[in-house]
Amino acid sequence: MQSANRKILLLPGDGIGPEVMAEVSRVIDWMARRRAVRFEVACDDVGGAAFERYGTPLNESTLAKAVDCGCVLFGAVGGPQFANLPYDQRPEAGLLRLREEMGLFANLRPAVCFDAVIDASTLKSEVVKGLDILIVRELTGGVYFGVPRGIFDLGNGARRGLNTHQYTTPEIHQVARTAFELARTRSGRVTSVDKSNVMEAGLLWREEVQTLRDAEYVDITLTHMYADNCAMQLVRDPRQFDVILTDNLFGDMLSDEAAMLTGSLGMLPSASLGAVDISGRRLALYEPIHGSAPDIAGKGVANPAAALLSFAMALRYSFALEEDAHLLEESFKGVLAKGYRTADIMQPGKFEVGTSGLTDRLLDELEANIR
Ligand code: NAD
Repeated sequence: MQSANRKILLLPGDGIGPEVMAEVSRVIDWMARRRAVRFEVACDDVGGAAFERYGTPLNESTLAKAVDCGCVLFGAVGGPQFANLPYDQRPEAGLLRLREEMGLFANLRPAVCFDAVIDASTLKSEVVKGLDILIVRELTGGVYFGVPRGIFDLGNGARRGLNTHQYTTPEIHQVARTAFELARTRSGRVTSVDKSNVMEAGLLWREEVQTLRDAEYVDITLTHMYADNCAMQLVRDPRQFDVILTDNLFGDMLSDEAAMLTGSLGMLPSASLGAVDISGRRLALYEPIHGSAPDIAGKGVANPAAALLSFAMALRYSFALEEDAHLLEESFKGVLAKGYRTADIMQPGKFEVGTSGLTDRLLDELEANIR
């Protein structure tokens, strides 16, 4: 694949976003120099930075670039200086619009426990050691988008708040298909999570996931679990799971719960994927799950791991560069194993490094691993 076919749009955003994204750029440069993996890289503002430059958190030309590139690496958006803007002008509105316009219906959140920082988890190490689960959350449907919605006046001082939880067969099939395809690259096990015992939309979810599996994915071992039980099982015995497939609402909560099993916000990547078109191309956005961390912005101490591991996901899911993704992830593990830590994951007896210091060590490790 030539670089012209491998386009990336960098949207660093606000706060620590530009700091961690600068480290991703260093690794992109390394990949071109040392692995002959070249990308055509564009960069633009999003969120608060875009509001200051364009008067909107997502400019139309930026959106057009995102769709043209197909692969967006997103930093983080937000900050106290933007907190009083109207909702549609706030930094977060830029991210929501990107997800919507790019049709990113599947949110992938890996929860991987690195041995070297196993003590960062609040759970016992024997419960989380070797943990490697992937949550696939439906991102564009369900109760967050269903209509009718609103707050209605009932008279006599009473009001009614209403949201609509709904799913259709195509919505369920498209995200379930993504989960089944991903499971095929892992252990072939999917746990589909719903509340079919009390919700009709949950019952439809369960039936449609099973129907698709029986029709097209008989090689996948599919089990179903109620969302409340899943929340409990995630802290009781998280390693029982491989791929967890769930809807927008439950996925919102379960993915945060799973993330915390690994103990560190600064190390968690994510991917949001759209549908594969007839040419085999899919739009995707990769981002750390942390926010813009205004409390540490500009200090050079942010952990760039989540952004770097998000780039590894982009290598895997947007460019099918599995070997390079693996190299990056394994090199990162090597950096941790050698004792280098940013302040957020610092432990006694280890070596504290800053944002660019961690990447320095990562580049050393990458060099060592290709020799
Ligand atoms: P946050 O994730 O920015 O920070 C929470 C805590 O974790 C802070 O103490 C921060 O210093 C620390 N932290 C986060 N990332 C870190 C990293 N890479 N290295 C070291 N420490 C890190 O969440 P918040 O404080 O609730 O939100 C701050 C701003 O970010 C708000 O404006 C919020 O709306 C926004 N936000 C944006 C996104 C996004 O862009 N997707 C996600 C969450 C929050």
